[in-house]
Amino acid sequence: MIISMKLHATRAEIDAVFERIRDFGYKVHSIEGEERVVIGVVGVGDVTPCLESLEAMPQVEKAVRISAPYKFVSREFRPGKSVIRANGTDIGGDELVMMAGPCSVESEKQILETAHSVARSGAKFLRGGAFKPRTSPYDFQGLEEEGLKLLRKAKQETGLGIITEVMSDRDVPLVAEYADILQIGARNMQNFALLKTLGKAGKPVMLKRGLSSTIKELLMSAEYVVAHGNPHVILCERGIRTFETATRNTCDIAAIAVLNELSHLPVILDPSHATGKRSLVPPLCRAGVAIGADGLIVECHPSPEKAMSDGVQSLSLQQFANMMNELQPYIALWKAARVSEAVVA
Ligand code: PEP
Ligand code: MN
Repeated sequence: MIISMKLHATRAEIDAVFERIRDFGYKVHSIEGEERVVIGVVGVGDVTPCLESLEAMPQVEKAVRISAPYKFVSREFRPGKSVIRANGTDIGGDELVMMAGPCSVESEKQILETAHSVARSGAKFLRGGAFKPRTSPYDFQGLEEEGLKLLRKAKQETGLGIITEVMSDRDVPLVAEYADILQIGARNMQNFALLKTLGKAGKPVMLKRGLSSTIKELLMSAEYVVAHGNPHVILCERGIRTFETATRNTCDIAAIAVLNELSHLPVILDPSHATGKRSLVPPLCRAGVAIGADGLIVECHPSPEKAMSDGVQSLSLQQFANMMNELQPYIALWKAARVSEAVVA
């Protein structure tokens, strides 16, 4: 943190600021110019209380945080990228990771047909909600444990890893028995009891950005999981709520580049929820690859028109296969960029 004193602050005023900083247990490094004094504050731990206290002192012009409030997930903490391994696949490494499947697990036939098809198309993870966060209490809420069992069967038949949502801290042990990656939905990004429990879940977590959450809030939520003992966190941009109504959410594509600058954690793009519209999924996938996402999570369904949730944004299995083919040249460029980044680093 850097403190800039008001012009011509008196010695007594400067000393009072020094004293306040030391009261918080930090060290003071000051640069005393002719007109203005600038103070560097050095120490460990969350500086927020100290920063707020100093900002409230009338002789202080400005207090600027230098270290991010999220420590463990920041690039300052780990300059290189984190690679998270799940079901034998590295996320954040030198392969773009595709995750695909229906919004909800609906039946054995639906999930097995989807799993075989997306595996053939090159997906490494099967997605599918067994516990569904629905806006309406009258909508399909998911098959719960029965859905998890169907996902396990799909994994046994195809070798795909499983990513599925867990909605409450109570369900973490159950879902962790079946999932390779625990998905935390947008609506739960700030469910702090859940985030704390995930610290001990023993499985990687994919944290989706909240409906109206800032990037900083997303990183603070990731920090919760890491600070409670689980460093295996993957971030997911899935669109945010804005004034724009042409798409279901506004895909904040820049968030991927921002997150890559601020954090070492892998970043996945969900173009399905980010747009809410099938035709927009392939162009957004291309954008995600181009901007350096570590992977994509795409909704697809054997018969999107019959889907029990999110059919409008789901690709058919054939459309997913076609999109995967069309993405190949982009993925080749992505790989070349990863290799050169690694060489530069
Ligand atoms: C989902 O992945 O089906 C889902 C509910 O996503 P989100 O939490 O991003 O809305
Ligand atoms: Mn969905």
